[in-house]
Amino acid sequence: MNFLSLIEAKRDGQTLDATEIKGIITAYTAGKIPDYQMAAFLMAVYFRGLARAETRALMLAMRDSGEVLLFPDDPRPLVDKHSTGGVGDKVSLPLAPLLACLGFRVPMISGRGLGITGGTLDKLDSIPGFQSLQPTERITEIVQSVGCVICGQTTRMVPADKGLYALRDATATVPSIPLIVASILSKKLAEGLNALVLDVKFGAAAFMPTLDKARELAQTLVELSNECGVNTRALLTNMQTPLGRAAGNWLEVKESVLCLEGRGPDDLRELVLACAAHLLVQTGKAKTLDIARPQAEKCLASGRPREKWDEMLAAQGADLAAFERKLALDQTAPAVVAIKALASGYVSRCDARILGEIVRDIGGGRFTKESAINYDVGVDAIARPGEAMVGGGVLARVHAADHAQADAACLRLKTAFAISAQPPAAEPLIAEIIDVPK
Ligand code: URA
Repeated sequence: MNFLSLIEAKRDGQTLDATEIKGIITAYTAGKIPDYQMAAFLMAVYFRGLARAETRALMLAMRDSGEVLLFPDDPRPLVDKHSTGGVGDKVSLPLAPLLACLGFRVPMISGRGLGITGGTLDKLDSIPGFQSLQPTERITEIVQSVGCVICGQTTRMVPADKGLYALRDATATVPSIPLIVASILSKKLAEGLNALVLDVKFGAAAFMPTLDKARELAQTLVELSNECGVNTRALLTNMQTPLGRAAGNWLEVKESVLCLEGRGPDDLRELVLACAAHLLVQTGKAKTLDIARPQAEKCLASGRPREKWDEMLAAQGADLAAFERKLALDQTAPAVVAIKALASGYVSRCDARILGEIVRDIGGGRFTKESAINYDVGVDAIARPGEAMVGGGVLARVHAADHAQADAACLRLKTAFAISAQPPAAEPLIAEIIDVPK
């Protein structure tokens, strides 16, 4: 293969065939293409785009660059959810045990946070003893016995994406729809799923700033994933405001447990139930969403998903007694400071981007892949748009490593909120559902 001529072809807007794309990915994974040439190819793709057949070939070649999960025959369908990421987005945590209790197997391979959007694995790593990295054999074992696992990708799964994603991150080529689609779906297809629900976020703190861009990404994801045999739908969800009332790794675990106990915030519960209901319909376990939704609600209310959560944590090495002791604490960070409303009225704005930046900057997120995380810092008790506030009422609390950091974070946090005399117009959490035409 003459890779230089393939870079030239893509630079000049030509279409590559599946064999050429497969050859590129195989050679890159084997270390036979230097990063500078691959970076040039990625930039050519960024500007020229990929045709649908090229994106499909890239996605399949990436999936096949490593091992895929194989599960024994079982009546329980294999399902998962993937979110494009947001602030306070902890849906995966309560959703996985709920799905297991609804009769699914859930091999949820998740990622770490980068930038202002949190990562599911970082949240789980705040649990004493929890092991987010599991060998392949153990992943399948836990899925078969418990029904769900939430863990990281093994080094043997989709190695092409690991290299390519790091290179894209360093060469400003991440925001390309075909590259994003191939990256996300190669990993999901390697899980051997029957059905997948995607949460594609739009808004200030989302990867896709506008609803139109989110729709374009979702449509490509849904069409390609269905073409590859995975029944897939996408929910387009609003990320102007953080999800729930907590952002920060441990604080989000606490809120997820509240959701499993029926005491969590409404928007989190809504999204968890919506994802579960769609998967029930997608897999034929329920005929319509109207039938599926009460099934999911009843299951969540039964308390079984809360027990399943403990079962999953124990299977992944968590110390449940230490976990319960930690849950009972109001704060685990050394300094907690509240910001208060200066006037009475309605919360009309709570800017997820500002909140996400604050959580990252006080140590809850990463600037680079190597940054260390402080699991206990974050923001909680977040007041939500539409809520009535009396002057002096708490808008949010900052949990920080020391008082100087907490005070500095509070100054910025005040700029995330606005109070108005009238309640703001309510914005739907789920703006649209993207499905393939039947
Ligand atoms: N998430 C991924 O896994 N890959 C991308 O390219 C973007 C978001």
